[in-house]
Amino acid sequence: MAKIIHYRNKCIGCGICFEQQPELWRMSKKDGKATLVKAIAKKEIYVLAIGTHIEEPTREMAKACPVKIIKIV
Ligand code: SF4
Repeated sequence: MAKIIHYRNKCIGCGICFEQQPELWRMSKKDGKATLVKAIAKKEIYVLAIGTHIEEPTREMAKACPVKIIKIV
């Protein structure tokens, strides 16, 4: 099973991840950054396991992040 890793502290709040996969993300009203819904946080690094059926679009979404802070492992 793949995992999304989000290095949230480097997020610039562009909203592309949310536009592409609104089921996975929320844009924070507090600091304007993207938040990975239901992810487990360790400091500012968020991790979420995803099903294989969404792996491909999730990889595309990660590629679209302009600061490359979304990794799929
Ligand atoms: S695409 Fe990247 S920089 Fe833009 S909101 Fe999402 S995580 Fe942040």
